[in-house]
Amino acid sequence: MTQLERALKGETTDEVKAVAAAEEIAVELVRERVASGKIIIPANKNRKQNIVGIGKGLRTKVNASIGTSTDIAEIAMEVEKARIAQQYGADTLMDLSVGGNIAGTRKAVMDAISLPIGTVPLYEAFAIAIEKYGAAVNMPAELLFEITEKQCAEGVAFMAIHCGINRKTVEMLRKQHYRYGGLVSKGGSYMVAWMEHNNMENPLYEHFDRVVEIMKKYDTVLSLGNGFRAGAIHDACDRVQIQELIINCELAEIGREMGCQTMVEGPGHIPINEIEANIIMEKKMSGESPFYMLGPITTDIAPGYDHITAAIGAALSSSFGADFICYVTPSEHLGLPYPEDVREGVIASRIAAHIGDMIKLGKTDKDRLMSKARRDMKWDAQFALAIDPERAREIKAKRGNGSDHSCTMCGKFCANDILSGMFEQNMVGSDKAK
Ligand code: SF4
Repeated sequence: MTQLERALKGETTDEVKAVAAAEEIAVELVRERVASGKIIIPANKNRKQNIVGIGKGLRTKVNASIGTSTDIAEIAMEVEKARIAQQYGADTLMDLSVGGNIAGTRKAVMDAISLPIGTVPLYEAFAIAIEKYGAAVNMPAELLFEITEKQCAEGVAFMAIHCGINRKTVEMLRKQHYRYGGLVSKGGSYMVAWMEHNNMENPLYEHFDRVVEIMKKYDTVLSLGNGFRAGAIHDACDRVQIQELIINCELAEIGREMGCQTMVEGPGHIPINEIEANIIMEKKMSGESPFYMLGPITTDIAPGYDHITAAIGAALSSSFGADFICYVTPSEHLGLPYPEDVREGVIASRIAAHIGDMIKLGKTDKDRLMSKARRDMKWDAQFALAIDPERAREIKAKRGNGSDHSCTMCGKFCANDILSGMFEQNMVGSDKAK
């Protein structure tokens, strides 16, 4: 049985208890929300992994994606990236390898870390088809199901599966006549090309019940992939993106009713004033299935800094109710991320998720403590509260003046030092008033 089926029967699983303890909320509330599909726990039965809850009332979670390309396929580097993602606080990791030894990379990554692992099985299926049958469009549909099951059996905890692409959405895309950014989802592009070449329906849509049964067998979470997400600000919320969202929300509900844990993926590239609408639509149309935002990237003109454009989008998304954020690294749109990019991406996303959680969940205690530690120049307390203590310590040490009563920013003009002691008694009242 899946976590959802067990919760529906009234069972409080160890995983439900672990989520409740980590989030400091009532066990029964977690169980109820797992039963209604508002919280998911990606915990494949065949692998021991960190227990992470994603969904309503929980801290916004951060995913880091790694993986080989056809140009750079070094297993050792992907393992290093996975380790860095875990070290700097990612909650989950997706291996999106498309080049070299895809299965070997996945195994090495899964052996190296304990985060729940996500994949896009379609990538491996199309890569095999290119090698074995000469072209991705020659892929036998059966291969998709075989690879999906193989990856589930290996212990993959959640999978992005592009079920929401169907002949109707492809027809809509054709009729729309424009898309500034084209299709930016690899899975989406390959699937559309396969459907066009073979003049067939998407097997993942046509045989959705089969996809669900495979997921259920291993309790892998079905993440309804965003193949038509906008890859340009000017394409955001166009008809095909919204049509796919409607289909994915419907499939999330069908899957859930079949006993499968599901979530829905969101954009992509989007201006900040359209983020909230996407979240409202997803929540309403799916019965509050957890929403997994990819970024989102909020301007197209900052290559090299897309961890920042995405963090701005992620902070807003989280504040409006998104549950899960996929990080973006500084190398987005430019090249395969290196290990240092993974650290930047994870930290930027964690900052964004926290900013959102301050609004969504009212989680402001750490900020209050940090303010006091700054005022009182308690440096160790500041480092302990920092999202990236290592970076904070490094900067303080490198640019220090040897004093604990100021830093080199203002030196002798340190405002905190000038008025040190003044606020201590007043803060008692402020604290009570919080
Ligand atoms: S020197 Fe300036 S920046 Fe540094 S602790 Fe004092 S007030 Fe803050």
